[in-house]
Amino acid sequence: MLNRREFLKTVSTLLAGLTIPVEKVEAFIDLPTSEKPKVAWLQNQDCTGCSTSFLNSNELLQIITEIVNVVAHPNLSFASGHAYASIWHDVIEKGGHIIVAEGSIPVKELHACHSLGMTAVEFGKEAFNSAGLILCVGTCASFGGISAAAGNATGALSIPRFLKEHCAWTDTRLEEKVITLPGCPVHPIELVGTILDLVLTGKLPERNNYLSPLRFYGPLIHDHCPLRGLYEKRIFASFPGDQGCLFEIGCKGTITNRFICPTRKWNDGANWCVEARFGCKGCAHPNFFAKKDDSMFISHGSLDYLDWRKLTSKEVAL
Ligand code: SF4
Ligand code: SF4
Repeated sequence: MLNRREFLKTVSTLLAGLTIPVEKVEAFIDLPTSEKPKVAWLQNQDCTGCSTSFLNSNELLQIITEIVNVVAHPNLSFASGHAYASIWHDVIEKGGHIIVAEGSIPVKELHACHSLGMTAVEFGKEAFNSAGLILCVGTCASFGGISAAAGNATGALSIPRFLKEHCAWTDTRLEEKVITLPGCPVHPIELVGTILDLVLTGKLPERNNYLSPLRFYGPLIHDHCPLRGLYEKRIFASFPGDQGCLFEIGCKGTITNRFICPTRKWNDGANWCVEARFGCKGCAHPNFFAKKDDSMFISHGSLDYLDWRKLTSKEVAL
């Protein structure tokens, strides 16, 4: 548990680059809960990985619960059954909440995902149309992700695509109401940093064409990678775990825009994909994971990536 001084220090780090005075942060945490922005977390067709990643981060969990009023979360809320359903009925009836949406919406296999006795399609229409803002967390919610991978048996759609094709949202409405935070999973700092940015500035952050904040999804992983010097010298690894830049064994850092991995790493700064010597799998890229039946990987110009399907199971196990 962070004390007040540590709390403010952590928040200041997360807000680096935004000119928000510390007094504004303090005033916000001192607001009564009823006056803080209300957040309701909705899980759709997903693995709960984004929730799990976020809930493992104690300090950031404390920050989010002191800055906003989390009224509903399927894994955090004490309420269950009818009591939990009545919270959501209230969210939809009153409207204006920040809905954090995790997972995709299956529009073909309707019963693949339900919320409170309704299909994800039925519930999503009601919940999203009532929202003040929708934060799509993770690659499934932002781009379809693994649930929309080659074959896509359930007809999984990302939340923006669902809103456009099934709720008749215009591009303007999407721009006004939707923020995407891709990643498989979302990084806790991307989520908490974006919420802090929103509630403390009262403005939507500057975003790219996929509605993702430029602050977190502007630079390429490659731009901040510690192995970049080896890339420039053309010193490449020939197998995962070897020394050298991982480009020739399929690293997607050159095409994946994500600031957080090389700069803050994962699991409280313990490690990240490149330092683990496997390379970036492009989990925040719009094409993750294998959207075409015949291609497991994203093509990149004329460069050939290693086709992992040709590895033997022994090599993969290594
Ligand atoms: S390991 Fe990947 S991200 Fe790092 S320099 Fe090589 S290609 Fe770029
Ligand atoms: S380095 Fe690449 S694969 Fe690893 S978490 Fe970051 S975006 Fe995802």
